Amino acid sequence: MADDMLKFVSRAQAMPDKRTVDTRRADFGEIYAPYDPKAAADQAARCSQCGIPYCHIHCPLGNNIPDWLKLTAEGRLEEAYDLASATNNMPEICGRICPQDRLCEGNCVIEKDFDAVTIGSVEKYIADTAWDQGWVKPFTPSRERGESVGIIGAGPAGLAAAEELRRAGFQVTVYDRHDRPGGLLTYGIPGFKLEKHVVLRRTDRLTASGITIQCDFEVGRDATMADLRAKHDAILIATGVYRPRDLKCPGVGMDGIHAALDYLIASNRKGLGDTVPAFDDGTLDAAGKHVVVIGGGDTAMDCVRTAVRQGAASVKCLYRRDRDNMPGSVREVQNAEEEGVDFVWLSGPEAFLGDAHVSAVRAYRMALGAADATGRRAPVQVPDSSFQIDCDMGILALGFEPEDLPVLFGEPALRVTRWGTVTVDHPTMMTNLDGVFAAGDIVRGASLVVWAIRDGRDAAEQITSYLLSKTTAKGAAA
Ligand code: FAD
Ligand code: SF4
Ligand code: SF4
Repeated sequence: MADDMLKFVSRAQAMPDKRTVDTRRADFGEIYAPYDPKAAADQAARCSQCGIPYCHIHCPLGNNIPDWLKLTAEGRLEEAYDLASATNNMPEICGRICPQDRLCEGNCVIEKDFDAVTIGSVEKYIADTAWDQGWVKPFTPSRERGESVGIIGAGPAGLAAAEELRRAGFQVTVYDRHDRPGGLLTYGIPGFKLEKHVVLRRTDRLTASGITIQCDFEVGRDATMADLRAKHDAILIATGVYRPRDLKCPGVGMDGIHAALDYLIASNRKGLGDTVPAFDDGTLDAAGKHVVVIGGGDTAMDCVRTAVRQGAASVKCLYRRDRDNMPGSVREVQNAEEEGVDFVWLSGPEAFLGDAHVSAVRAYRMALGAADATGRRAPVQVPDSSFQIDCDMGILALGFEPEDLPVLFGEPALRVTRWGTVTVDHPTMMTNLDGVFAAGDIVRGASLVVWAIRDGRDAAEQITSYLLSKTTAKGAAA
């Protein structure tokens, strides 16, 4: 009932409890406790049920947020889950790792005067409850279809597309070069933001619903694009972006300096129980080391917080802008600070120093100049401002670029942009190759999980139309 809602004036915002800093630093478990049923209902009831819900408009998936908040406030959780999962293939994952302060919650109308409704935490609560209660089950399409779709990449874009295509009855095979599915959900994002069993229960459900996930299969090594096109009626490229952006400064190639993803993958693999020689011999383990991470995005935040948990002697984050202008989520910066990370704002690396192994980074101070084309103030170097930070491990988290897919896939005709992202036609999401579509980071450049899911869903819709129109055309010709 409506009078169960609109409690934002009398009831304060309350995020789920956070574990104490000492316990957080000691393991890789998630830092937020779950809501109990009363807290979830109370927080959901703060929603003012806006006529024009800006939360919904600013959710990339267009989630029906006010409706599932109301159902939660009324204790109708199974219906809330049905609604939440109708627009989102992974609500418990987005509830955990979307930067809500920039999306739904940042646009909640009560945010300014009363603090936003805790939309992400309620979404996580609804979906985790659904899993606990056994409401999330493998599904069977209402009719099987003969056409097959090959998807390259088992990250959120590929998996969301796979689920939607399978629901439509198609035969779906997802290929991934890693030994486990999930893409960056499994191997990039650390467990303290997203525990791995949360990802793997989703992928297990997809295989139980008839989707084939072929791991350890690298397109380019184990098959060419032409091989896959001969095998499937349509292809989706959802390979993400993995080439680390270069840092051009003296000493960058010396021992002890690592690319962020190498470091995070090793840590995630250890958490999954794998043998990782480069970690086990100490190379990619920050224990006892003085660590400097260069960068200010989500990846940098994940590196600094991983180093804290590995027992680093000190962890510093060097970023060329200030706190207000960094790309990482405000919440994640706050979590990192609580855990003991030292931010060195307005600083850039000038050189890495040492003999064979890094022993220090020489940096310079930056100041913020005029706003650039995107409206962000560009950092400029302050003359004669060099200073030195001792370190024995450097991690470079400066972003990612696409690999050279036309070369990798043996398909020189595949059209890419000058940045290497795959060019697609809008709104069909088809590349210049007939029946070959693309979605996720490989089209957008490094982005967010929620956008990858959105793209995967959109691509599935377009692939469905493509395949059905081909079948209709064949029928008409027969
Ligand atoms: P990916 O998740 O990268 O998946 C692509 C898959 O394709 C991978 O499994 C890869 O193995 C496979 N693949 C690649 N090439 C081949 C090939 N030739 N053959 C077979 N398989 C191949 N986003 C958020 O919303 N919140 C966060 O907190 C967040 N944190 C992040 C932290 C880190 C460290 C990083 C790197 C990213 C983070 N992101 C976050 C961004 C988010 O993870 C990505 O935007 C999202 O995963 C992109 O999805 P995707 O499916 O396009 O690609
Ligand atoms: Fe907010 Fe992300 Fe959930 Fe959308 S998917 S409601 S942006 S947490
Ligand atoms: Fe509720 Fe905020 Fe969305 Fe309004 S904008 S419907 S108050 S969650």
